[in-house]
Amino acid sequence: MEICCVGGYEEVGKNMTAIKVGEDVILIDCGFYLPGVIELQGENEIHYTRAGLRRVGGIPDERILDELGWRKKVKAIFISHAHLDHVGGLPYLIERYPNAEIFGTPFTIKVLESLIEDARVVVNNKINTIKPNSVVSVPGSKNPEFKVEFIHTTHSTLDCSFIAVHTKEGIFFYTLDFKFDDNPIIENPPNYSRLKEIGEIGVKVCIMNALYASREEPQGGEREAKKMLENAFSKINLKNRALFLTTFSSQIERLTSIVELASRTKREIVFLGRSMAKYVGCAIDIGKCPFKDKIKIIKYSRQVNSFLKKLEQERDKYVVVCTGHQGEEDSILDRISKGKTHFRFKHGDNLIISSSVIPTEVNIEARKKLDEKLKKMGVNLQTDVHVHGHGGKLDKEKLLNLIKPKHIIPAHGSLEQEKDVMNLAKERGYIEGKTSHLVKNGQVLKI
Ligand SMILES: [Zn+2]
Repeated sequence: MEICCVGGYEEVGKNMTAIKVGEDVILIDCGFYLPGVIELQGENEIHYTRAGLRRVGGIPDERILDELGWRKKVKAIFISHAHLDHVGGLPYLIERYPNAEIFGTPFTIKVLESLIEDARVVVNNKINTIKPNSVVSVPGSKNPEFKVEFIHTTHSTLDCSFIAVHTKEGIFFYTLDFKFDDNPIIENPPNYSRLKEIGEIGVKVCIMNALYASREEPQGGEREAKKMLENAFSKINLKNRALFLTTFSSQIERLTSIVELASRTKREIVFLGRSMAKYVGCAIDIGKCPFKDKIKIIKYSRQVNSFLKKLEQERDKYVVVCTGHQGEEDSILDRISKGKTHFRFKHGDNLIISSSVIPTEVNIEARKKLDEKLKKMGVNLQTDVHVHGHGGKLDKEKLLNLIKPKHIIPAHGSLEQEKDVMNLAKERGYIEGKTSHLVKNGQVLKI
């Protein structure tokens, strides 16, 4: 098989991989690279164009597929999960693949459909929702069909999958974002038994996520995050004071814990903003939002503004869940901190940030400024009440023990970060250049 490492092999983001088997090509993932504006995309109506995104390197540069003569052979596009760095680019590139069907699990497809709507593009491709742990047959043009399997895993949003492409040459295994969480809040645990079977059938090559590959300590599951939140709630003084929480709007399990703990305050729980409304709406649509009757969602900015006016007078009646944990410009927290709303933080108001700062220059700087402002206002600020969604070294080793690939290709990191996977591979007897391969965007491997 031939693999074109289109994007995401030199950075975190714009993930895309092409696999050519015989005369057919399939694509996996089609993400955004827009550090710092990920959440903003949901808050404002920003109109991106393909040309504009290409200019800023915001989408995978899949023009390489034209050079290779592969583009017109693309039969199908598979999306591993709903995060924007895996699905965000698709609305802007799909026009180039008129004959490709799109496949994803229910939450992923709901999010994709809402991104297509936001992008105001017409997509005529057939979009298929498939169940986690199921198999899709892709008919071959000259060669017989091959099967693509979605294997359920845990990560930090709903319905995440490993993707296994079964070919007569062996299995191509795509494992970007995952963290093994054996006791998730609402999801099923990872499908270990199928992973073991896949290993027994024989994996030829595995694309392996590089994030935290050298981190020895366990990352902790969502139950740990819930305990951290519980601890944060125990440190707040609610008397006549506002309570705000912020996290990733696609992190439905975390939001479930937040709502459960917030319910104990007996206050009304209000989710603010388009991004929250988008992802929670998708979770409701697929029947995976256990807190849907416990919250009120206020989506549009006019209603958000009038709610914030009311909150100023009745700060002890509500728990507010909103965006802005990365200090994104024009997010709700950003606007409040800049005095752009009728609500002002007062001394003793509470804010729990259930995320960590995404380590890019833009985010670090934006959060530093936000935190400084909030502290000046006297906000009782609790940060990093969070566990990461990417497994460390232990999880990566566990996966390799199960699937035993012949070849490993690191992805989802800078070339520097990807060396951690190369080192892990070396420890396990892989040989650089022969069975482990550090590649650049656009590189083609024949394996
Ligand atoms: Zn992800």
